[in-house]
Amino acid sequence: MTEFALVAVPGWRKFSWLRHGFSRRMGGVSTVYGAGEPGETGTFNLGWTKEDDPGSVRENRRRLMERMSQGTKGMRLVTVRQVHGRVVHRVLVEEAWAGRLETPEGHAVLEGDGLVTDAPGVLLASGSADCVPVLVVDPERRAVGAFHAGWRGTAARIVEHGVAAMAREFGSRPEDLLAAVGPSIGACCYTVGEEVRERFTAEFGYGEELFRTVGAVGAPQMRVDLWEANRRQLLGAGLSAERVTVVGECTGCSRDEQGERRYFSHRMEAGRTGRMLNVIGVALPGEQ
Ligand SMILES: [Zn+2]
Repeated sequence: MTEFALVAVPGWRKFSWLRHGFSRRMGGVSTVYGAGEPGETGTFNLGWTKEDDPGSVRENRRRLMERMSQGTKGMRLVTVRQVHGRVVHRVLVEEAWAGRLETPEGHAVLEGDGLVTDAPGVLLASGSADCVPVLVVDPERRAVGAFHAGWRGTAARIVEHGVAAMAREFGSRPEDLLAAVGPSIGACCYTVGEEVRERFTAEFGYGEELFRTVGAVGAPQMRVDLWEANRRQLLGAGLSAERVTVVGECTGCSRDEQGERRYFSHRMEAGRTGRMLNVIGVALPGEQ
């Protein structure tokens, strides 16, 4: 049985107080979404999807939290009900630990597409299965943010609002921030319609540069590059280019050595798939 893997940003390992990672598809206990035979490797579904057993999701989440807290006092996971908008919430430690940010079943209470905190012991999560997860860290103020940017959220400038929220709440200066654009659907796979192009070109001066037309004459397809869209938005918010990492793995087509999908892909699996969690937090003082 393979254990789950998390994708980390190489340059962030030097922050001993920081916990972060982008989850992948395999290595959990879920028996749906292409899991092997019982007793073999299951999938690492971290979302409350209708096909999966909530007990499996709970166990996958417990394992994630155990890894993140390195088995000691633990951290508290905070998720958000994502709505493809631009609302960002600040998470306070007492709210998180009092359990006010989740239902008794473990579902998110807050609605929005971004979470920020400077509270040690809180692990923020953005869920995804193609949408772009963006993690942001302020090493100076030890504050973090997790954002969810599908095409609608990207057009609504969710990461720009996220950087602004960190400035407002923690005094973060954009030039101090580091950001990572995580595994998500790439321009290799993300075919979109005219409404997406219209929205982006109306919203961004560089909007046209995000689109490519591919395919045969007479049957062209338009693709959009959401990694670049979010990278440009972060630069526009004041981050410097060398502080923005694009992981560059496509959830639609990345496969492992055995040819198995590395990620859940809503688009490629017609909506019947699991969810990754993309997490970031400040460790408790005793665990830094
Ligand atoms: Zn792809």
